[in-house]
Amino acid sequence: MHPGLWREIWILIGIGVLSLFFGALTGRPFLIAACGFGFYIAWTLRHLRNLHRWLLDRRAGDIPEGGGLWGEVFDEIYKLVKQASRRQDQLSGMLARFQKAASAMPDAVVVLSQESEIEWANRSAAGLLGIYYPRDAGVRLLNLLRVPGFAQYLERGEYAEPLEITSPDNRDIFVSIQITPFGSSQKLVVGRDVTRIARLEQMRRHFVANVSHELRTPLTVLGGYVETLQQMDQIKMEDLRKHLATMHEQSLRMQRLVDDLLMLSKLETAPPRTQGEPVDIAVLLKSLMEQGTLLSGENRHDITLEADSSLKLLGSREELQSAFSNLINNAVRYTPAGGKIHLSWRATGDGAEFAVTDTGEGIAPEHIPHLTERFYRVDTARSRASGGTGLGLSIVKHVLLRHEATLEIESEVGQGSTFRCVFPEQRVAHA
Ligand code: ADP
Repeated sequence: MHPGLWREIWILIGIGVLSLFFGALTGRPFLIAACGFGFYIAWTLRHLRNLHRWLLDRRAGDIPEGGGLWGEVFDEIYKLVKQASRRQDQLSGMLARFQKAASAMPDAVVVLSQESEIEWANRSAAGLLGIYYPRDAGVRLLNLLRVPGFAQYLERGEYAEPLEITSPDNRDIFVSIQITPFGSSQKLVVGRDVTRIARLEQMRRHFVANVSHELRTPLTVLGGYVETLQQMDQIKMEDLRKHLATMHEQSLRMQRLVDDLLMLSKLETAPPRTQGEPVDIAVLLKSLMEQGTLLSGENRHDITLEADSSLKLLGSREELQSAFSNLINNAVRYTPAGGKIHLSWRATGDGAEFAVTDTGEGIAPEHIPHLTERFYRVDTARSRASGGTGLGLSIVKHVLLRHEATLEIESEVGQGSTFRCVFPEQRVAHA
């Protein structure tokens, strides 16, 4: 038996023995015993009342104090209360930390009650799902998130696959919604911004469609000629040469497209080189100018070059050659016969720049921001007729990006254009 209980039994025995002793002395044993046990019962009831009072309103005061077995009972209760309060502090700390972390998450997080009412939401839920906490607490989620397909998704109860929706506040934002049931029929709704992935997917689809479209025309022409030649019993040498020339032109067109695609893919996948070899741009431009003159042919453009030969560029010779030749070829292709094309390579205050200026047809301002997009052309027929793939300026943009440079375009319809590649100082080596 517990020692405290033994003590109480001994107190009761003591009260009995003392009552007998003083009862024998005074001749009133029952009265003395009644007083002794009455006192003990009153003392016990007093502790019981204190305990009851404290249990009714725990916050009113400290745990009562007492002697004997009651003291031990109160001590144990005190320890239990302390433990419980420590655990509660830990839990509230944890909850506060969890809410803080969930609030800072870039994903939208919404906790729903059994009735699908909003219990809590983080800050990102405002931007992605248009749910503002605490303003929307207690409101049914379906009353706020009125987007096609969401009501069926929420009510179906089958959440293995996420649902993709557009944000109710901004149609340009795509959100992937994933619901996880937890506790007693509550739900955790997580919304992730997948705009970038959705755009990439859209770009990929457009890209595949564009490439297929670009390849289909030369392939159809080639196929047509081959079929015609197969069905012919006799053919004049002159006609055959004409047919073969067209077939050759179409195969060159496909070759250019594939070369440009490979170049783009190389530029996108190769890791960026921080510096590179010093490239003699003056020498490179001289050979590119000769190629430009060759391309100009009968059109006899007046091509001039002004290059600072003391100025070298740190980078990839192959990539720079590809970018600059695209710009020079464009100037030749989009400038009428006899037009002027000027190439310049010079130092600027904080780096260097290569510029191609032509007196060509020029470009309307609304097209300029889109020129570096793949397959973007102002006049598709004109571009194709002059052997364009629609990828030239896209390649230029990627090469410049890899050389920490920017492309600046100035143009006026009917007057001409200037394409400027601006390189930062750290890319320039002065002889
Ligand atoms: P493309 O193979 O069609 O020339 P690019 O990407 O090189 O493709 O150029 C995109 C479009 O920009 C061209 O189709 C053309 O409309 C326009 N463009 C590029 N350079 C010039 C220029 N020097 N003058 C006028 N238009 C140009």
